[in-house]
Amino acid sequence: MDRRNFLRNGSMLSASSLLAGCARRVVAPMDVAAFAPVDLPASACRLPPVKVSEDRVIRTVVGLRPHRNSGFRVEREQLGETAVVHNYGHSGGGITLSWGTSKLAVDMGLPGYTGRVAVLGSGVIGLTTARLAQDAGYSVTIYTKALPPNTTSNIAGGQWGPSSVYGDPRKVTDAFTDQYIYACKYAYERFQILTQPKYGVRWMRNYIVRRKPFPAGFGSPNPLQTLRIEHATEKLMPEMKVLSDKENPWRGLYAAQMDGMMIEPPMFLDALTEDFRIAGGKLVVVEMKTPAEVQALPEKLVFNCTGLGAKALFGDEELTPARGQLTFLLPQPEVTYTTGFEDTYMFSRRDGVLLGGTYDEGNWSLEVDEKTVAEKIAKHKELFAAMKGC
Ligand SMILES: Cc1cc2nc3c(=O)[nH]c(=O)nc-3n(C[C@H](O)[C@H](O)[C@H](O)COP(=O)(O)OP(=O)(O)OC[C@H]3O[C@@H](n4cnc5c(N)ncnc54)[C@H](O)[C@@H]3O)c2cc1C
Repeated sequence: MDRRNFLRNGSMLSASSLLAGCARRVVAPMDVAAFAPVDLPASACRLPPVKVSEDRVIRTVVGLRPHRNSGFRVEREQLGETAVVHNYGHSGGGITLSWGTSKLAVDMGLPGYTGRVAVLGSGVIGLTTARLAQDAGYSVTIYTKALPPNTTSNIAGGQWGPSSVYGDPRKVTDAFTDQYIYACKYAYERFQILTQPKYGVRWMRNYIVRRKPFPAGFGSPNPLQTLRIEHATEKLMPEMKVLSDKENPWRGLYAAQMDGMMIEPPMFLDALTEDFRIAGGKLVVVEMKTPAEVQALPEKLVFNCTGLGAKALFGDEELTPARGQLTFLLPQPEVTYTTGFEDTYMFSRRDGVLLGGTYDEGNWSLEVDEKTVAEKIAKHKELFAAMKGC
């Protein structure tokens, strides 16, 4: 949350204008029942456009994705009597892959172990790891520097899609490729059984819009891709097709569609935390400073889910931030789709319509960049001005 902007914009509202608004119209709060778990439009022709204007901006947030060129790290390490299973470094795909890499991690740590389990971190990776360990019958304590809503996971846009999870695909190992393919599939199926209002997970249609026509064969396996890892998600994007002129509501632009899941991180993380507590989990707010402190914990099986925090805690020099910024417009519940247009994307969520599309590796700044805010608004004004129906 950009607190300065929030206060600045908030102070522009006088008490009288707020009260005047209340007297005219009582807005019913959106309840959980209003959250439709399936929102696939029958046709793109009459999609309601997003209303893009500066005065509809409600907040801008910044987060640092935990990026590693060689991809996430799910690996077991022995520290004296303590077994540490690392599960971090998911870059732009941590929400997407969460259940999958957490399943890999618990399968690496739990078999043969008896006793209490520790999890470091309570972002999406820590919480899904903790829940899977509880499901397997273990008592779990989470030790964490910060709780939701103060995690990177809360900042995420929340589209299901493993994006920028590794650097050069030719440089990842075969072992990583195996883990990646397994994690994608496991997480994809696990999220499907959570398409419930409580978890903030629903099916949503995605539109990709371009200035140039789509290449022939778009949507079918791409023969130019030769690596296994490049084909990992091909079957996980159903109903992918290029829209014909009769189906395309964008004048002068080309569009394709595919179906996917949208996970609303604030709702999902709250639901996971609640499930964790109901299952008897304990939460301890503490920052672990050294591996020796980790070794001193009473639990002899520890899952390290500290995201970017693993850089300082375990000295992983490969970890680097990939900064992202999202600007939120007022919610539009009637918009039940996402768009991707050049270097921008729009996701419609219950807590706002977010405009994103920044990925700056090596940038540690958590300050809002106003120039980027203006650029994302301008690009989306252009996109939705061109949406005339068909
Ligand atoms: C703008 C943006 C958009 C994104 N969009 C998407 C998307 O659409 N889909 C998607 O799949 N992913 C998306 N991501 C990526 C996703 O947010 C991350 O991959 C994911 O949040 C990583 O989860 P994590 O649990 O590893 O890290 P975090 O959420 O950062 O959690 C780490 C936890 O560890 C704790 N911790 C850290 N250090 C210590 C320590 N020393 N001791 C104790 N505790 C510690 C922290 O307090 C925190 O609780 C996006 C990210 C950004 C920034």
